[in-house]
Amino acid sequence: MRAPQGVAILGATGSVGLSTLDVIARHSERFRVVALTANRDVEGMLALCRRHRPDWAVMVDAEAAQRLARELHGEAPDTQVLAGAEALSQVASMEQVDTVMAAIVGAAGLLPTLEAARSGKRILLANKEALVMAGALFMQEVAAGGATLLPVDSEHNALFQGMPAAYVPGAGRPEGVTRILLTASGGPFRTTAAEQMSKLSPEQACAHPTWDMGRKISVDSATMMNKGLEVIEACWLYTMPEEDVQVIIHPQSVVHSMVQYQDGSVLAQLGNPDMRTPIAHCLAWPQRIEAGVEPLDMFAVGRLDFEPPDLRRFPCLRLAQEAWHAGGTAATILNAANEIAVQAFLDRRLAFTEIHGVIEATLAQLVSAEADSIERILEHDARARACASELVSGRRTAQRVYS
Ligand code: NAD
Ligand code: MG
Repeated sequence: MRAPQGVAILGATGSVGLSTLDVIARHSERFRVVALTANRDVEGMLALCRRHRPDWAVMVDAEAAQRLARELHGEAPDTQVLAGAEALSQVASMEQVDTVMAAIVGAAGLLPTLEAARSGKRILLANKEALVMAGALFMQEVAAGGATLLPVDSEHNALFQGMPAAYVPGAGRPEGVTRILLTASGGPFRTTAAEQMSKLSPEQACAHPTWDMGRKISVDSATMMNKGLEVIEACWLYTMPEEDVQVIIHPQSVVHSMVQYQDGSVLAQLGNPDMRTPIAHCLAWPQRIEAGVEPLDMFAVGRLDFEPPDLRRFPCLRLAQEAWHAGGTAATILNAANEIAVQAFLDRRLAFTEIHGVIEATLAQLVSAEADSIERILEHDARARACASELVSGRRTAQRVYS
């Protein structure tokens, strides 16, 4: 029998991290949990360490790491606790690790995921922000390091499943493919009237109709920035021009995306909206394993609807498309400004309808440059965060800038 695959889960306490552990626990003969990481959720990590017995547990927050080590003392003598952001990169490149699940939310996931690429790991990519902010560099590192990049994001995973046999992301434009049809649920405000949108609360934004996810991606889904980030993600993964990526609103979230071929074929991947399907697909690829997902009942689904997106009510989608065309660090700036604006909205410091304005004004105020080095990317990420934070705190000025 083959030795089990050693897995490191970056962002283990989050929504994707927990779904990954759920799949792994169903196949203990195939996978071994080598490392788990989290930001500062000690209770969450403690429960995971008790259950999965990793060799390494990383807490980015030093105080949280100390507490975890204290609580685990004597109970899990085989688990070593590490502290700090550098420890994320350390576990992502460990020899015992074959597979890295990149499930940290936001830009914080970039450096460890790049490290996994350099170390030639099999990367299960959920952290789309890493690809959006540093796409060219990221794809270069994947190729240079001999890493295998497998998309966990449900749409990109669906596209991967619809691609020509033996095709893997990063292998250039797929033969015979004319278009990517990227589906979107439309989020919780798909049918909300424009006049009502300024009053929407974080609770309403996080109540997604079909997917259960972390708070940041839930808000991104509500503004449709998530789909914008996913357009950019698709362009990088599949070497497609933005014009060939069509966004289609599909409220049932059953068709997870489609690949259109030159002979007129359209290949779709369907399933219940449950992240364990794409996670299991990537974990076992090219084989298939059981994921604990309810089989799809087509009679219960009944019908499948498709409609075009409304760029007037959801301007974030347009901003992302424009940033892709601007090139260089524009997508880095877009991503960073979005992270600041979303956090401000979650903290009730910004209205839902002000999110896109902060991003647009940040993009207008900063000059983008070639995204040719990690230093440049991190510098532009930091500048965009500073600019967006200023716009949020001086909202009156900001409103003048973008109204
Ligand atoms: P989440 O908020 O539920 O979990 C985030 C994880 O990242 C947690 O483990 C947290 O401890 C860790 N983290 C947060 N900030 C950190 C930091 N500064 N340093 C280190 N670790 C940090 O998020 P999620 O919904 O699981 O999403 C994770 C990623 O997967 C995101 O990039 C998201 O866009 C993507 N994704 C999620 C889903 C989904 O269904 N949830 C679907 C597709 C893609
Ligand atoms: Mg998605």
